[in-house]
Amino acid sequence: MSINLDSPIAYLKGVGPKRAELLKEELGIFTVFDLVQHLPFRYEDRSIFYSISDIEVESTAFQFRGKIVKKALLGGKRASRLVAVFNDGEDSLELVWFKGANRILKQLPLNVEVVVYGKPSNYGGKWQLAHPEIEMVEAYENRRGGGFYPVYSTTEKLSSRGLNSAGAVKGDIGETLPDHLLSELRLPKRREAFEEVHSPSSPLEADKALKRLRFEELLYLQLVLLQHKKTVTVDLQGVKFGQVGEMFNEFFSKHLQFELTGAQKRVLREIRADMNTGHHMNRLLQGDVGSGKTIVALMSALLAIDNGFQACIMAPTEILARQHAEGISDLLKEMDIRVEIITGSTKKKDRTPILEGLADGSVDLLIGTHALIEPSVVFKNLGFAVIDEQHRFGVAQRSKLWAKANPPPHVLVMTATPIPRTLAMTAYGDLDTSVLDELPPGRKEIKTVHRTDAGRLKVMAFVEKQITEGRQVYMVFPLIEESATMDYKDLMDGYESVSRRFPLPKYRIGIVHGKMKPADKDIEMKRFVSGESQILVATTVIEVGVNVSNATLMIIESSERFGLSQMHQLRGRVGRGGDQSYCILMTKDEFSKEARRRLETMCRTNDGFVIAEVDMEIRGPGDILGTQQSGLPDLKMADLLRDRDLMTTARYMAQRVLEDDPSIELPIHKTLRVNLDRIKKDRPNWSRIS
Ligand code: ADP
Ligand code: MG
Repeated sequence: MSINLDSPIAYLKGVGPKRAELLKEELGIFTVFDLVQHLPFRYEDRSIFYSISDIEVESTAFQFRGKIVKKALLGGKRASRLVAVFNDGEDSLELVWFKGANRILKQLPLNVEVVVYGKPSNYGGKWQLAHPEIEMVEAYENRRGGGFYPVYSTTEKLSSRGLNSAGAVKGDIGETLPDHLLSELRLPKRREAFEEVHSPSSPLEADKALKRLRFEELLYLQLVLLQHKKTVTVDLQGVKFGQVGEMFNEFFSKHLQFELTGAQKRVLREIRADMNTGHHMNRLLQGDVGSGKTIVALMSALLAIDNGFQACIMAPTEILARQHAEGISDLLKEMDIRVEIITGSTKKKDRTPILEGLADGSVDLLIGTHALIEPSVVFKNLGFAVIDEQHRFGVAQRSKLWAKANPPPHVLVMTATPIPRTLAMTAYGDLDTSVLDELPPGRKEIKTVHRTDAGRLKVMAFVEKQITEGRQVYMVFPLIEESATMDYKDLMDGYESVSRRFPLPKYRIGIVHGKMKPADKDIEMKRFVSGESQILVATTVIEVGVNVSNATLMIIESSERFGLSQMHQLRGRVGRGGDQSYCILMTKDEFSKEARRRLETMCRTNDGFVIAEVDMEIRGPGDILGTQQSGLPDLKMADLLRDRDLMTTARYMAQRVLEDDPSIELPIHKTLRVNLDRIKKDRPNWSRIS
């Protein structure tokens, strides 16, 4: 039977059924081609030979040349261990195998020159190599590239044996990139690249080959995403907001209490241009905490209202929805615009008139939690929908909003957890992106410090000083589901101890957490917002959006337990007014290395995009998108973290291809066309992102 790239891996010489099973389970390798695409993750320079007498400490691996002079199975009847003696011409060393002893015994060549590679360990005062790699000298010398070896990622159950797929690279690996791209980017041909990565001729060539293969995968990913984006924007009819009307202009000239930042103006222009095309808008607005996204959302909503449409803003929590509703109603109070709010706790008698108003078109702007995507909420003509703090929602919710009108409303997705750019290109690759990269003027950097319990007295003195100056303070405790009982106890203990330190009637301390009734939470929040309470003890329920500009101090307790983006969000609760603000990260005396990196990053920078990059390095791309997100695209050769630069190039190239040839039908793109069709079938999850 002839083997081709699509053959099951078990047909390959040297891969039995057992190993084939492991390859499937551990590495997702099913076919010969999957194996070929399992690229080395690094290369080792094995051009140098050592003498056994060079070994001094257990450290890195050594390579020797010499002969195996003796071999024997040990361990009694069960022959659990194979021991061989290796001699490099001067000294001897033991080689040991605990697994596969019988099989290896047969294979080990005696008294011929071999190359031995392994990490020495000291056993009873003598050096030995456990499970070394052995190769005949002849084979070693016949390798391309001399002693430059590929190293494959393996798993505990799967040794690296047989992962080297050099042998599997056959002639039928077709080209997938057009010639003009190859020569422009100076990339090797595909077959050469596969050959080179698995049996490298030099570090430089191997690196180019790896780059070529990873780029190819990212280019196709971007082509898929950008085509999908075109389908849901340019190709999809959307309502056209042709005019900037009365409401927008009135608000802008009479009620806007500040000058818009340059970034806000730019983003508003981008949104306006989008809404005026007759196509559907599907846009992501990224902006660090405090960059002023709400006003952008509101003014975009006014554009819709000016053109006779309704708008809605969906927020992830009740607290936030209320805050938006109150803030926005206040801003619009002198204008003839009806704003309503619907959340899970809206009573039926309040709900009915709102639903009626939505149906007859008299409600212009609806604000709410995900209660507003329930089927009972029916709009007369929804033209624009905002999703605030998108990372708290799932993909499903966005599509439910789409379904609220036909043609679907323009959608603006906002996120205050900056997403590293390359990740945004992927996870939100089908959205256009706007960035608010400028904070309103007069904001001061929030001073951030790290303190341990030893410094608590001083921290409390600082709290007192802030309060005396008329400022307010947040004190946040972690609340993790797995340890909820303990966490609640810590929260309550913390609450009691600050209550003792700052007693009534001079001070008033509020508390909010997830177990409280919405109404009680509300009362506590209102007290804090109005300045009646000076300290708010809370869990992360206050993480997103809460806006009290008089609050200047954020204390994060047990901060070693918080993630970076979470701390950054929390810190964003202060520094919202003109006063100098502070963030104090409290920890125990000891914590992990990763926690240290998080704390140092927080103390070093206030820039959400920098923090997002570090966060991605620590946690990996999957975790930083949040639990609600759909999976990231499955990539076989490229890596979202490592190949950030390549992703940027791929995005750019894909954009260029589609600009010249939107449906990819020109003769010079034939290779792309053919492979794109195949890839869409092979990688269904690439089209299901965001
Ligand atoms: P976020 O982007 O975190 O949602 P908000 O929209 O809540 O930020 O805005 C934060 C604060 O900054 C609010 O009090 C808002 O009124 C204020 N703000 C927004 N834009 C400006 C501006 N251009 N000038 C001054 N203050 C602004
Ligand atoms: Mg906000």
